[in-house]
Amino acid sequence: MDEAAGIDRIEIGTVVIGAGFSGLGMAIQFRMEGRTDFVVLEKADDLGGTWLGNTYPGCGCDIPSHVYSYSFEQNPDWTHTYPPRQEILDYLKRLADKYRLRDSIRFGVEMTAARWDADERRWHVTTGTGQVYVAQFLVTGIGSLHMPYIPQLPGLDRFSGAVFHSSRWNHDLDLRGKRVAVVGTGSSAVQFVPKIAETVGELHLFQRTPAWILPKAEAPTPAWLRRALRWVPGLQRAYRTLLYWQLEARAVPFNWLPVLIKGGQAIATRHMHRSISDPALRAKLTPNYKLGCKRVVMSDDFYPALCRDNVELVTDWITEIGQDHVVDTAGVERKVDAIIFGTGFHVTDAFHRLDITGRDGRDLADQWRTSGNETHLGITTAGYPNLFFLLGPNTTVGHNSTVFMIESQIRYVAKAIRHTERMRADTIEVTHSAQNRFQADIQRRLVRGVWSTGGCDAWFLDSKGVNRALWPGFSWRYRLRTRKFDPADFQFAPAPIPTARPVVPAFR
Ligand code: NAP
Repeated sequence: MDEAAGIDRIEIGTVVIGAGFSGLGMAIQFRMEGRTDFVVLEKADDLGGTWLGNTYPGCGCDIPSHVYSYSFEQNPDWTHTYPPRQEILDYLKRLADKYRLRDSIRFGVEMTAARWDADERRWHVTTGTGQVYVAQFLVTGIGSLHMPYIPQLPGLDRFSGAVFHSSRWNHDLDLRGKRVAVVGTGSSAVQFVPKIAETVGELHLFQRTPAWILPKAEAPTPAWLRRALRWVPGLQRAYRTLLYWQLEARAVPFNWLPVLIKGGQAIATRHMHRSISDPALRAKLTPNYKLGCKRVVMSDDFYPALCRDNVELVTDWITEIGQDHVVDTAGVERKVDAIIFGTGFHVTDAFHRLDITGRDGRDLADQWRTSGNETHLGITTAGYPNLFFLLGPNTTVGHNSTVFMIESQIRYVAKAIRHTERMRADTIEVTHSAQNRFQADIQRRLVRGVWSTGGCDAWFLDSKGVNRALWPGFSWRYRLRTRKFDPADFQFAPAPIPTARPVVPAFR
């Protein structure tokens, strides 16, 4: 304890930020290596990250269950083709118990700032609860889909009803019979709209841009298949591999063969026609950009929900909000009791809200605001020794499982730390040339993809129109690039030579 400052100083090998999929994965990796000198700081009072925070009705993952898990901890018991939120959370909790991670997690502790101390060659990680963790390595596992984005609509502060974002669902509010405005039609809204449509009195869904929606073919996993996956040797791994390659194939049209996108669009259009007979409604729901340009949405129940008598799709924008109503550009006033925002997250600027000060006092937020979020492999960035990002810039995949990317990263970070230790170095920092080479390579490949050429404005792009979210191409290429840790991409600083001890002559 630093009595003067009233601050607890805790020395530790590594601080991991966040107990979601990536932070927990990192902690498991450390446990498997027999390490105990790490701590995970989690601002919430439980683990799970995204899957703890998002509790909206219908919340789940639209990536098939059997690929949405770590390869080293597969789960034969998924009940559905796509995992519901609660099962993902239960899966993560089981892992936390199995690997005894809870002892290493500090719940309710938020990192407020991290500063590189050049003299100590350590990160000083300050928390909202008044501690300073002094750590050799800092690993952030915060992802980029956690800071709710709510548009500043005129008069929103005057509204007297309930207002909340999909990722901060207000479960105290009973929506039964209520008049509700929902803003946004992305992946989250498409999941919760069909659920609340069944109970609310009126639902006015404000859509700015229609999404391409593919059939999900959601189904329960039959008991015999679950038993077979558990007991038939190799079956689960084979099934997972098959699903992985099916998803991986989706990268082809998005990256290299845009002509195939027409096939996907035809499937989506047929899907819409099957549920919606009203041509005017179909016209409103038909995107004018290429499928894949924005994240593709999967749903079986969204289109049928829009056909309900109590649901209205509004494509005029909200111009004003009053105490109990919203007004659109056509001047139509709708009385509502609640406004729910399914408007997504601060994504490319999520890292700009981190208070991280690197070598020579450089501020990560300032630097990335100017240069863009530039990293090497989305994991390290020049000027910030011993700092690693999990799910950092340009490592999101739209076509396959994010967990595959996380797993590539936790192994890479572990290798980097092991290498640093083997060299008896104190610090590891990526070189500018390695980072520049990586940036040039991915940006060259990204501009050819549908996100840049598909005619839409997606959250993948930063304020300068540069894609700072997605990994271009196949996810297996990312696995290959991270499989081998190349020390030539880094500079290492040796640990200071310990002060020489007096030589005591040995007795013979
Ligand atoms: P999102 O995909 O970013 O969708 C936000 C929606 O709000 C869009 O329809 C957007 O319209 C609209 N919107 C945003 N700002 C607006 C504004 N100022 N005015 C009017 N409309 C506005 O957000 P999300 O649905 O929360 O999903 C975020 C991400 O989370 C997804 O892309 C996905 O990666 C992830 N997610 C995944 C799953 C899963 O199953 N794996 C489920 C949920 C979420 P525009 O299109 O015009 O911008």
